[in-house]
Amino acid sequence: MSAPLLQVEKLAVTFRQEGVETTPVRSVSFAIHAGGRVAVVGESGCGKSLTAMSLTRLPPTDRAQLSGKVLFDGTDTLTLNRDGLARVRGHGIAYVFQDPSASLNPVMRVRDQIAECLPGVRRAERLAATVRLLTQTGLPDPARAANAYPCELSGGQQQRVMLAMALAARPKLLVADEPTTALDVTTQRHVLDLIDSLADACQMAVLLITHNLGIVAGRMSRISVMYAGQIVESGAVASVLTQPRHPYTRGLLAAVPLLDAPRNAPLRDIPGTVPSPDAWPAGCAFAPRCPAAQPRCHNLPPPETESDGRQCRCWLEGTACC
Ligand code: SF4
Repeated sequence: MSAPLLQVEKLAVTFRQEGVETTPVRSVSFAIHAGGRVAVVGESGCGKSLTAMSLTRLPPTDRAQLSGKVLFDGTDTLTLNRDGLARVRGHGIAYVFQDPSASLNPVMRVRDQIAECLPGVRRAERLAATVRLLTQTGLPDPARAANAYPCELSGGQQQRVMLAMALAARPKLLVADEPTTALDVTTQRHVLDLIDSLADACQMAVLLITHNLGIVAGRMSRISVMYAGQIVESGAVASVLTQPRHPYTRGLLAAVPLLDAPRNAPLRDIPGTVPSPDAWPAGCAFAPRCPAAQPRCHNLPPPETESDGRQCRCWLEGTACC
């Protein structure tokens, strides 16, 4: 098999502030092949977005120290100079973030914002290129949208504009960080379908960051489950979702609402909250919330084990632990 398009090896992100050191991303490793679809899932505060942003060193460099390796197309982005990094950001890895209204400039017309992503296109051709990109994203009246300000568009339309901006540089990898969280359910589906079809059409790999396991099945090929800054389970989506090994993955799956559940059935959740990075437990970070925790779980971090193409970080890996 060819080398992965993106190989993340033992990525760690450490912040130092007022003499206090925290590491909200700890030894994260995963890979994406050209055209591949990988999801990183977990609750808010698990380090998913910070991991995604670190691929191109987006966290503030004066406060964040990144270590490990992020090999994109064979180049370690953690060691690139400013120009090299700008090339990767512009032409290799594009991002679509959670809230398009916060990402778009409210006082610039859409066409001017997209034009900034078309540096090699002559001025006279930029409007036509912009309308072409907006057409690609399925906007019903792309010429009108090009002349609009973001506030004149709905949330779904704004996210399509963000996708058009991402596509402008023909990236090899699209990082979609909670791209549908701010949208209503029907629009969520349209945007996810659009990302799927654009990725197919443009032969683009996708890294989907989400807390919603329900949108992963059928769209992504591999999944990494993150908890407290670490990947606690990963493998092929079909395998992880049907036979989860880690208690946290089981908890996340149990919390997905089912359409055919009785009307009065209580919604299930995982008791407790994700600990703050300055208070990661000494042993397994999930131990305070884990229904299967044993005494050693509270004192010793579990090792990562691998079998059948699956990785799991749990002392009880491979046994019926919940
Ligand atoms: S190592 Fe222990 S506490 Fe952690 S997930 Fe496994 S069983 Fe639960």
